[in-house]
Amino acid sequence: MKIDERRCIGCRACSAISSSISVSEDSDVRSITFHPHDESMTERLIEACPAGAISPGLKAESFTLTFRMRRCSTCGEPFATEREIEHVAAHISQMQGFQMSWLDLCPECRRDGQRRSHALPCIRTRGRR
Ligand code: SF4
Repeated sequence: MKIDERRCIGCRACSAISSSISVSEDSDVRSITFHPHDESMTERLIEACPAGAISPGLKAESFTLTFRMRRCSTCGEPFATEREIEHVAAHISQMQGFQMSWLDLCPECRRDGQRRSHALPCIRTRGRR
């Protein structure tokens, strides 16, 4: 298995199906280490990778890629790599009605925002009764 480091976005999908791929994370950086492993896994890994970064081929040594983390604009928690956000932004920028500012929010703060926006009309309706 070979990894194209220009394409890899640090999403960790591959690490979920291969124990030869390990992840460590602190508040600023996510590191993904690819260890040499059984080539029979390669097809599954190619399918799992959303960025087309994996291809067949032998890599004899372990290597590590590092990715800068994006922090939530509301709570400040790191929630994704910068590259993941760029990847998503490139794929959804043409979608009508999508608010790009949502990409700066962690999943928890997005849910909070959604709950508030769903609750507001109910509160207004009840207030009129
Ligand atoms: S699944 Fe692909 S893009 Fe995601 S970390 Fe693995 S190699 Fe990188």
